[in-house]
Amino acid sequence: MRATIPSRGRSTDAGSSAPAYDGAVDHELPPVPPFDLSTPPRPDLQEPFDEPIPARRGRRTIAFLVVLALTIATLGGGVLAIERLTVPESDPSQHGFLGLRMDGSPIRWNPCEPIHYVINPSRAPTGSVDDVHEAVRRVSRATGIAFVYDGLSDEVPSRARLPLQRDRYGERWAPILIAWVDPERTDISFERDGHEAAAVASPSRPLTGEEIFVSGFIAMSLDDPNPPGFAWRGAQGPVLLHELGHVMGLAHVAGPGEIMEKSGGGVTDYGPGDLEGLRRLGREAGCLTTPVPV
Ligand SMILES: [Zn+2]
Repeated sequence: MRATIPSRGRSTDAGSSAPAYDGAVDHELPPVPPFDLSTPPRPDLQEPFDEPIPARRGRRTIAFLVVLALTIATLGGGVLAIERLTVPESDPSQHGFLGLRMDGSPIRWNPCEPIHYVINPSRAPTGSVDDVHEAVRRVSRATGIAFVYDGLSDEVPSRARLPLQRDRYGERWAPILIAWVDPERTDISFERDGHEAAAVASPSRPLTGEEIFVSGFIAMSLDDPNPPGFAWRGAQGPVLLHELGHVMGLAHVAGPGEIMEKSGGGVTDYGPGDLEGLRRLGREAGCLTTPVPV
């Protein structure tokens, strides 16, 4: 089963033929705050003056700096408040699964063994590898499953990527491949609903059909580069969180407020339904038996 996420730049602009990521089509907040909200200037930590300054001027300087700091704090608080107001509400019931087993439980990984992953950053923007590690860390925290980074890979993802590749990865299930790829170099189609998707992902089951995930891939399109980081909705981090959700076994949900909404739900991190879905796919659901790779 293949899952997609349309370009973030288009998430509020369905039907347009705007470029893949373009601040001009982002109808929400400005993508970059005018200053770093987390570390406002600290006049109290300024370098000491070299020469004594008349007290009167010093008082004026301090008063000015206090007013400046208050102004910045007020503006910052305002921007944060707007950000909070624009995060859609949701609840833990907002999750779904890509597939169900015969007993009605979701198809998932064996949560009692570490999940291995490799990265092919190709010509990805600087910071992309760190973004992958951070996204994996969040999935690990939400599922209770350990992840192991096996290093870089030059594997190019393909539509029929085999879950067992002895020549490349040895006698074990192939690690999850997270790769940035030129759409010209793969048979994976990024075309979804008339849009060019930013990424495509899929978990893999054994070819023998057991109801368990043992491998998977995420293909990030080099034609649709998103800025690195997790700070805003159009960034690469939330795209990775969405695609990793699919690789773990989560399906799309209809409502906003969840990163598994097909366009990312207007959020930058997992929402309550995403987290509940990941919990149900994770350690708390109990161990499974990983099939022997054949
Ligand atoms: Zn998706």
